[in-house]
Amino acid sequence: MRPEAYARSRNALDGAVTGLSPYLTHGLVTLPQVLAGVSAVQPLPVLHKFIFELGWRAYFRHVWAQRGDGILQSLHAGPLPESAYRRELPAEVRAGRTGLPVVDRAVQTLYASGHLHNHARMWLASALVHLYRVHWRAGADWLYAHLLDGDLASNHLSWQWVAGTGSRKPYLFNAENVARYAPPDWHSPGSPIDCGYDELDRRARDATVPVPVPVPDPVPDPVPDPDPDPVPVIPAQAGIQAGSGADLFDPLPEPLLLTAPPADLGLAAPDPAALAGRDVWLVHPWSLGELPADLPADAVVLGVYLADFHRAWPWAERRWRFVGRRMAELTPLRWWGSAAELTQALSGARRVQALGDPHLARWLPRMAQLRPAPTLFPPVERRCDSFSQWWTRATRGLVSSTDLLARSSGHPPAPP
Ligand SMILES: Cc1cc2nc3c(=O)[nH]c(=O)nc-3n(C[C@H](O)[C@H](O)[C@H](O)COP(=O)(O)OP(=O)(O)OC[C@H]3O[C@@H](n4cnc5c(N)ncnc54)[C@H](O)[C@@H]3O)c2cc1C
Repeated sequence: MRPEAYARSRNALDGAVTGLSPYLTHGLVTLPQVLAGVSAVQPLPVLHKFIFELGWRAYFRHVWAQRGDGILQSLHAGPLPESAYRRELPAEVRAGRTGLPVVDRAVQTLYASGHLHNHARMWLASALVHLYRVHWRAGADWLYAHLLDGDLASNHLSWQWVAGTGSRKPYLFNAENVARYAPPDWHSPGSPIDCGYDELDRRARDATVPVPVPVPDPVPDPVPDPDPDPVPVIPAQAGIQAGSGADLFDPLPEPLLLTAPPADLGLAAPDPAALAGRDVWLVHPWSLGELPADLPADAVVLGVYLADFHRAWPWAERRWRFVGRRMAELTPLRWWGSAAELTQALSGARRVQALGDPHLARWLPRMAQLRPAPTLFPPVERRCDSFSQWWTRATRGLVSSTDLLARSSGHPPAPP
């Protein structure tokens, strides 16, 4: 991690970003550990761009803690009524074949790697909501399922920020912005986004502006059609043209989304006999860091996946394997089951402990005594509806990363 290069280049797709988000999301590392590592080489001012970005993650968690499942609904009205947006992603978007290079490259990168640069996420979300007029929630659910770092707070609240239902105005971008921060194959000259911001804003607020028609499948028909349907073109006064159709790359198919783990992940059904009278440390997909140093020597380390969560929030296979590999390093005993089955199987244990995480907040407190996950920023009790409000409170009186780390909750204490 090079803090100066990060501050200078993080907006560029080839900028000096860390790639840490899947590890942070799944608890392999914590925000205090990340900052401590950077700060050991070079303490940073609290106002450094990198700390600011770590702050966004913490802020979204603050909003989740304050609003609970409310983050899955629009926090307030956006530029258009909810009914103006479609609830399904257009097939061409899902296939990465819209003909708009910035969208197609983003979708293909996502499918190929399970990751997307922050700027690409912003472009993709903005194009879906404000150009194709897809409801942010449909886009957020789809992106969450494909990301290795999918986090319901960072993801769904970022979509709301882009949509304008969690921020004061919609996030819009144009072809010039893409040309500045992305390699040439992402550039989108002559496309619907090749215009000024006033025009983009006007369209985002006007439900009568036609949505650009995605380019049809570019694979040529072997039998010439004597009377082909004309490719529909959006009226010129809307300032929108259909894509160029020159984008003849061969896209990857959308990875399958799985509501249950792949069979070869080595998971067993819950078995109460394995735990009777024992001390248990529960490992779950959001707590994959080192095991606590103060566990009793004979404690059973048990990995669990809750079917209730995964049925609602499917993951691409790549993510199941990323999580599965790490969980297998931590323990050979790993179960897949419903919350009811797991609670029942754990009930005979002497004591069950785990790290808390809001993804499992509905079930985990009934199964285990929870230790709080380490936090970097001091807690802000009052609900903040903007990042700047939260940031002012969270960093009051703090000057450097050293001050911040001194206030962080570091490693969680054992409950009494
Ligand atoms: C539409 C959209 C959806 C997103 N979905 C997720 C998600 O599901 N999970 C997720 O972790 N992040 C999400 N983000 C935030 C951000 O894009 C990623 O955290 C970042 O791209 C991860 O790459 P990195 O680790 O190289 O980040 P770096 O730039 O190296 O930053 C280091 C860490 O800071 C945090 N961070 C940086 N930027 C942001 C940000 N804008 N918001 C919140 N945290 C940030 C992340 O934890 C990141 O790992 C989303 C952003 C957008 C616009």
